[in-house]
Amino acid sequence: MTGRLAWRTARLVEAREETPTARTLVLDVSGWPGHLPGQHVDVRLTAEDGYSTQRSYSIASAAQGDRIELTVQRVPAGEVSPYLVEGLSPGYPVELRGPVGGWFVWRTTDTAPVLLVAGGSGIVPLMAMVRARRAAGSRVPFRLIYSARTKNDVFYAEELRKRVRDDAGLDVAYVFTREEHGRRINVNDISTAGWPADFQPDCFVCGPTGFVETVADILVALGNEPRRVKTERFGPTGA
Ligand SMILES: Cc1cc2nc3c(=O)[nH]c(=O)nc-3n(C[C@H](O)[C@H](O)[C@H](O)COP(=O)(O)OP(=O)(O)OC[C@H]3O[C@@H](n4cnc5c(N)ncnc54)[C@H](O)[C@@H]3O)c2cc1C
Repeated sequence: MTGRLAWRTARLVEAREETPTARTLVLDVSGWPGHLPGQHVDVRLTAEDGYSTQRSYSIASAAQGDRIELTVQRVPAGEVSPYLVEGLSPGYPVELRGPVGGWFVWRTTDTAPVLLVAGGSGIVPLMAMVRARRAAGSRVPFRLIYSARTKNDVFYAEELRKRVRDDAGLDVAYVFTREEHGRRINVNDISTAGWPADFQPDCFVCGPTGFVETVADILVALGNEPRRVKTERFGPTGA
């Protein structure tokens, strides 16, 4: 089989710690066809006895030749994520296929203002959009609302600080659920740090299922057209 549905062997070239429980994997994928920000890959692990299992992971990087980056959050007692976060060493092979998904994508030719709303590791495909915007020199106004447990759970913290400083038209607001006075994201966060619905923003919401549903309901209640509210749920993906 050829094309995006073919399994390819990627190689880990570098791993970066994002938080004590999450790692970015930089992979070399020979013949990678390119991707749009928002798309994901399927990763397959096969044990020596032939048992194999696969999970989906969003692509964190903007398109850059044969290199892609994934950021994986370790799920306690998970089958796949602990190995990707702790077990895989540079030089090791990883089987993957993709890119997958055509709806939850932002194109650098799109012109509407963009609202990104991330819950936890849901930041990953949204970061690909922030990076692609920068790589294309786009001036489309972007606002990101990022909900994480604590400051120490923020992925790409340093890069986000730099992007806000250097990328005109990008704003980032944080909501912490487990800091002192922590709370869950609410309608005030979205109306204060988002766009008025009259601006007809393209909204991308990604994270755990409950988070995504809450935010999507708020966005629609605030007057956003449902077709402009695109969602990606990071629920369990095991076969
Ligand atoms: C389109 C898509 C893109 C995704 N992108 C990313 C990504 O960029 N980074 C990333 O870290 N993950 C991402 N995920 C989640 C990922 O696919 C796996 O579900 C996750 O890594 C857990 O796999 P596991 O084998 O370690 O756990 P499993 O062995 O599948 O599950 C172990 C236990 O944890 C629970 N569980 C499974 N997944 C989750 C979860 N996401 N949150 C909380 N509990 C869970 C299960 O119900 C089970 O009880 C994505 C999911 C989808 C559908």
